[in-house]
Amino acid sequence: MLTGAQYLTSVQDGRRLFIDGKRIEDPLNHPLLASAFRFAASGYDRAYQPGATHGPYYTIPLTQGDLRAQLKAMGHWDDLASVTSTGLMALITAAARMSDHPEYGDYVARIRAYHQHCMENDLRCVQAITDAKGDRRLSPSKQDDPDLYTRIVERRADGVVINGAKLHITAAATAHELIVMPTKMMKPGEEDWAIACAVPVNAEGVSIVNTTYAPRGDDSDYWPISSQASYPEGFIIFDHVFVPNERIFLAGHVEHSATFAHSLGLWERLGGTAHMIEAADTLVGFAQLIAEANGVERISHIKDKIAEMIIYATLIRGCLEAAITHAEQTPEGWVHPNELYTNAAKHYGAAEWNLMVRHLHDIAGGAVLTAPSGRDLANPEIGELVAKYLRGKAGVDAAYRARLFHAIRDYTADAFGGWWLVTLIQSGGGLYAQRMVSTKHYPLDKAKQRALRIANFPETATPTAIASPAQP
Ligand SMILES: Cc1cc2nc3c(=O)[nH]c(=O)nc-3n(C[C@H](O)[C@H](O)[C@H](O)COP(=O)(O)OP(=O)(O)OC[C@H]3O[C@@H](n4cnc5c(N)ncnc54)[C@H](O)[C@@H]3O)c2cc1C
Repeated sequence: MLTGAQYLTSVQDGRRLFIDGKRIEDPLNHPLLASAFRFAASGYDRAYQPGATHGPYYTIPLTQGDLRAQLKAMGHWDDLASVTSTGLMALITAAARMSDHPEYGDYVARIRAYHQHCMENDLRCVQAITDAKGDRRLSPSKQDDPDLYTRIVERRADGVVINGAKLHITAAATAHELIVMPTKMMKPGEEDWAIACAVPVNAEGVSIVNTTYAPRGDDSDYWPISSQASYPEGFIIFDHVFVPNERIFLAGHVEHSATFAHSLGLWERLGGTAHMIEAADTLVGFAQLIAEANGVERISHIKDKIAEMIIYATLIRGCLEAAITHAEQTPEGWVHPNELYTNAAKHYGAAEWNLMVRHLHDIAGGAVLTAPSGRDLANPEIGELVAKYLRGKAGVDAAYRARLFHAIRDYTADAFGGWWLVTLIQSGGGLYAQRMVSTKHYPLDKAKQRALRIANFPETATPTAIASPAQP
């Protein structure tokens, strides 16, 4: 296993990173990226155990208990470790789904060897699936630029060369490896776009343009949450990148091009839901604390809103629990979470998040945006008067209330809060994807039968074979 310091050394490998229009020469000390590298390093240090062979994020759950323990543990991992686990489990799941046919034997063997390689070297991997996509109505081969979906531009005896871009990739700049997968099902004739592989972040031809919600100021009291931990999203460009055979997990087999996206979707939505439970509890906590600080905690519409937030948090937790309880065993002997509950949980949590944030803002008041900073409170000229007017009910002083407001703003109404709003909707493929998968796995026929029974149709009724009521 690597220590945090060894990780920091390992990522000084010549990777091509950009932000705000400039090449980043010293990523570890860049004001907008330094905290992301520190956060990842702290994850290494927390997990490090002398003599241990690997960190917990590489474990393949064999039972429901393992899966439950892993999701619980995930709450203590840094985000880069979480996406590593999700990406590798997606590959393992895809390998299982391809293992029924000897034609895919090489891919399956390479995926298993790659998992082992990452585990043995304590590597962090990110999931690079979302393509640029150009005109969304057109398939990859119909785009006016074929690179708008990542594709093979050259096949060699020892590997392939790829072109394309993968967008919005969480924590890419801080990882060692990019797990590249096709964004969707490819059709016959689109074999060049059916490419899944692993590419080192510092491979020749890879460039990453970064964006981040990391605060653009140095007041850690004003940004109490996002100043502690942040990750950039990477706009990754592959410009004639060579991928050796042993890192190719799919090349040209269009029939399995969507297998990777479906496998990733499952694990990504599971991890997203686990994080969402913590976030939902945090919203409830903020709502109750600020209501108490403002003296409104016993007012009925405030209590109603907090009760609704509690129900929201509880339903997501319950649905995640059901996803684990109904986890399915694979022929290889490990388990994956239930598709229906996982997708329904992720969709519900993401779709209703905005409403819960609205409740919090409604309860908290305008100072969420306008509370003066701790530095204003400390100003010898104006601080005392700011404190006089910023305090809440008796016994709640201004510094306490200001700190709560800054945390609520940072969490829900500033750069990080905006990031959450969009991320919850789009991560895991967007709400549309979760609706599709939920519908696919829901027992719709059973529901129809039930409706027919309640409507008093005979068991064998069909829309065309039902006798008209006798005329009087
Ligand atoms: C902060 C953040 C982090 C992310 N992290 C990752 C990551 O680590 N790895 C990764 O691979 N991706 C990541 N994503 C990407 C995420 O999965 C995508 O944003 C999502 O899949 C939507 O794709 P898009 O952004 O290109 O939007 P679009 O594809 O343009 O979608 C926008 C809307 O149009 C609809 N739409 C698009 N095309 C069609 C069509 N043909 N038919 C019907 N409707 C259509 C969509 O359903 C959606 O409602 C991240 C996104 C965000 C915001």
